[in-house]
Amino acid sequence: MAKTSIDHELSLSLLGWYDREKRDLPWRNTRDPWLILLSEVILQQTQVSRGMLYWERISERFPTVKSLARSDVDELLLLWQGAGYYSRARRLHALAVIVSMDVADGGYGGNIPSEYEELVKLPGIGPYTAAAVASIAFQTPVPVVDGNVKRVASRFLADPNPSPKAIRTWGQSLLHRGRPGDSNQALMELGALVCRPRKPKCESCPLSIRCLGQENAESLPKRKKNMKKIERIDALVMVDPSGLPFLKRRASNVRFGGLWGPPMGDVDTEDKEKIGEISHQLSHRDLRVTVWKGTCSKGIDPKSVPISNLDIKILSMVLGP
Ligand code: SF4
Repeated sequence: MAKTSIDHELSLSLLGWYDREKRDLPWRNTRDPWLILLSEVILQQTQVSRGMLYWERISERFPTVKSLARSDVDELLLLWQGAGYYSRARRLHALAVIVSMDVADGGYGGNIPSEYEELVKLPGIGPYTAAAVASIAFQTPVPVVDGNVKRVASRFLADPNPSPKAIRTWGQSLLHRGRPGDSNQALMELGALVCRPRKPKCESCPLSIRCLGQENAESLPKRKKNMKKIERIDALVMVDPSGLPFLKRRASNVRFGGLWGPPMGDVDTEDKEKIGEISHQLSHRDLRVTVWKGTCSKGIDPKSVPISNLDIKILSMVLGP
């Protein structure tokens, strides 16, 4: 019982800090599960400041899950352009279609499911996003584990490599039963604003009273070596007489799947003009792209189709900005 009361005290301290210090983010001013889910999918691999732009743009065009289900995936991909990790957009569209189906047909009648176990079955929804949506939109007391929470847990517990189970158990002990969504957001916000990777602000941390790792905070958690592989590929930009490039839609199961772009990878560079090289960072790859130029009879306007940031760079190298 004593342990429960101490956790309760910390839980309230964390919530009090959150109420005072939280950033005013647009998805925090809605209780609409669709708009909350949309924010979580965008934030999976996009920084908050850029994520706001995409959330506003997409939620304005698709204010309901059904409105996205009725649209073509290309429309979402165009809005998503520049946010990277385009498979998220394709899966979000697939999710919208499933959620919008009638219950009799295996769907959810246009309602985002409230249970973690149902959410995690949907396309693009992993354990983190399911926990975030269940707790924030539906007040289900399930702890979230993201990179920020892992760092705070590692430091609080003075454990260089806490197991997922240990992190969840610790997170659960801080969940306020009346406001589990806010407790989860508070922990993530604390990681973003106070328990930062470098120079954590322990003096203003609501958990400092019981934190075991604050003396060596910057050394926790143990860092993994960056094992990014360098990958060299060719891209061929073929330009028609009016200056438009040949673009094709990539298959959905390859990199930048579903987006349009010039031929890339195993391309015929014989008799083509070498234009230059581009470096492009992906999460697990460091791409070095050699750009070639050729000709074609008919191209298309790149602004009319969704294309990746890398393809924009490649086309700019050949066609100019
Ligand atoms: S006291 Fe410092 S190290 Fe501990 S959780 Fe707070 S900010 Fe992180």
